[in-house]
Amino acid sequence: MTKTAVVTGAARGIGLATTKLFLAEGRTVVMIDNDTEELARAAEGLTGAVALPGDVSDPTGIDALVNVTIEALGRVDALVNNAGLADFGPIEGTTFERWRTVMATNLDGVFLMSQAFTPALKATRGAIVNIASISALRASTLRVAYGTSKAGVAHLTQQQAVELGEYGIRANCVCPGPVRTKLAMAVHTQDIIDAYHDAIPLNRYGSENEIAEAIVWLCSDKASFVTGQRLAVDGGFEASGIGLP
Ligand code: NAD
Repeated sequence: MTKTAVVTGAARGIGLATTKLFLAEGRTVVMIDNDTEELARAAEGLTGAVALPGDVSDPTGIDALVNVTIEALGRVDALVNNAGLADFGPIEGTTFERWRTVMATNLDGVFLMSQAFTPALKATRGAIVNIASISALRASTLRVAYGTSKAGVAHLTQQQAVELGEYGIRANCVCPGPVRTKLAMAVHTQDIIDAYHDAIPLNRYGSENEIAEAIVWLCSDKASFVTGQRLAVDGGFEASGIGLP
C-alpha cells in the first residue's frame, strides 16, 4: 500500500521541500497552492506528485479540493497545513482588512482544510502537521497579525490532538525559525537578519529541508506516540530568550 500526503503551499519554500521528502520516501503527494503558475513549474518532473491549484482560505472551494484529492490519491495518510502569508506591521498601522487577510490564510485555512479532510484522516488513522512559527511561541514587535494567527494555529493543533485522538489521528505543530524563503525575505530587513543571527544560538537561519525533515518525521510511524506537540525547529531561538527589534 502506497502512503499518501497532502501539502498546502507546496509550490515553493518549505512546502516544496516537504513534498520532495515525502516523494523520496515513496509517498504520493497532492500539492495544493493558489499560485497556479509556480505550482505547475514546481510539480513538473516530480514523479508521484499531483498539482492541485486551490486557495485554502476560500470556504467555497474546499470540498472540491477534498474530492479531487481523494480521486487522485484514493486515501489520505497525512495533511500538512503549510500555506501561509507573512505580515509585519505595528498594532496601530494594521488595518482590519490586512488582519483578516492574514487570518484567512494562516488560521482559517488550517481550520477549513483540517475539518474537510477529517473523514479521510479518520479512515487511515492519519496525521496532521500544522506549520505555525516561532512567532506563535514568543511575541515581538510588528507581528500582531502574523503572531496571533500562528498562536491560533498552535492552539488549534492541540484541539485537534485532543478531539481526534480517539480516531487514531495525531496532530502536531512545527514552529520554524527563520528560513530564507520568498515569504521571509519579503519582510526581513538587514536589521532583522542580524538580530536573528544574534538571538539564535546556532547563529544562522534554517533551511527549508531542516524544517521539512521534522514535518515528515511527525507524519511518519516513527512518531506514532507523538501528538499535541509544538516542535520548534529554530536553532534554539525559543530557548535563548533573546529579543528581536
Ligand atoms: P513561501 O512564500 O515560500 O511559501 C508559501 C506558499 O504558500 C506559496 O507557494 C504561496 O503561494 C502559498 N499560499 C499562500 N497563501 C495561500 C492560500 N491562501 N492558499 C494556497 N496556497 C497559498 O513561504 P515559506 O517560508 O515556505 O512558508 C511556509 C510556511 O512556513 C508558512 O505557513 C509560514 O508562515 C511558515 N513559516 C515560515 C518561516 C520562514 O522564515 N520562512 C518561519 C516561520 C514559519
